[in-house]
Amino acid sequence: MRKTACVIGWPIRHSRSPIIHGYWLKTYGIDGTYDKVAVAPEDVPAFIARVGTDGFVGCNVTIPHKETVARLVHVEDPVTARIGSVNTVYVDAQGRIAGESTDGYGFMAELRTAYPNDDFQTVTLIGAGGAARSVLAALIERRTQSIEIVARDVAKAQTLADLFGSESIRATGWPSLSDALRRTDLLVNTTPLGMTGYPDLEIDLSHLKPGAVVYDLVYVPMETGLLREARQRGFRTLGGLGMLLHQAVPGFERWFGVRPAVTPELRALVTRDIEGTA
Ligand code: NAP
Repeated sequence: MRKTACVIGWPIRHSRSPIIHGYWLKTYGIDGTYDKVAVAPEDVPAFIARVGTDGFVGCNVTIPHKETVARLVHVEDPVTARIGSVNTVYVDAQGRIAGESTDGYGFMAELRTAYPNDDFQTVTLIGAGGAARSVLAALIERRTQSIEIVARDVAKAQTLADLFGSESIRATGWPSLSDALRRTDLLVNTTPLGMTGYPDLEIDLSHLKPGAVVYDLVYVPMETGLLREARQRGFRTLGGLGMLLHQAVPGFERWFGVRPAVTPELRALVTRDIEGTA
């Protein structure tokens, strides 16, 4: 039977996942499909229950369903269980409808690809939402020595730090930012600031440690105001596109049996779509 997969969200029209998976299906000559499906919150349980039937091999999950789906599926991976968020649903070897979060994997895969020789022992995260949770899990897994979470709501940053119970994480507010930046090897924006329709994230980068990397998870636009300023000041930078591409890899492999590559051609394809030149 022809395999079908999809991405679900509410709304879903801006998702780039069909471009990514469609490219891989074509590249590897697989007779499968990958669509986007708008699923209202009340319909999520019934939709997920169909995974594994009629060739439906699984789905990606985006805003606002990631936490709901984490409660509906079997979760094997301890990191996914801890963050309580699932973006990839599949049928596991025991035939169960299972899920995992691949955002942290995507974050780290792009960082390692771009800067393989850095070990980024001191990291500052801006924001304390869902993306910050996945990034934090990935940083803890690779034993980062010191992570500072800077958020406008310090209590929320503290809750996030407590979730991991690690001595290497500290939660602080904006007034501590300049101090943190002096020690930072890697500065990560996990807020939507800088995204089209949002104001820029205003940070005084004159305090940032020389040689640091600035990583912005936002990918629309490809170069945010923060990244532009960082580049102009001579810092190395990384946008959110690569994370988006890499987080899609584990799902495709589970559904279609081929571990796909994140190629320059795929990057160019999605870039053209983001820039409206496709
Ligand atoms: P989220 O759960 O809503 O969290 C957003 C965080 O940003 C919260 O801590 C929020 O603070 C903070 N924030 C929002 N507006 C702010 C402002 N004006 N000033 C200071 N802090 C502000 O969202 P998310 O799911 O983590 O996503 C965040 C961003 O990451 C989005 O732009 C998304 O596109 C991007 N992202 C990219 C990828 C990728 O693959 N590249 C993957 C996931 C997410 P409060 O809690 O105080 O509101």
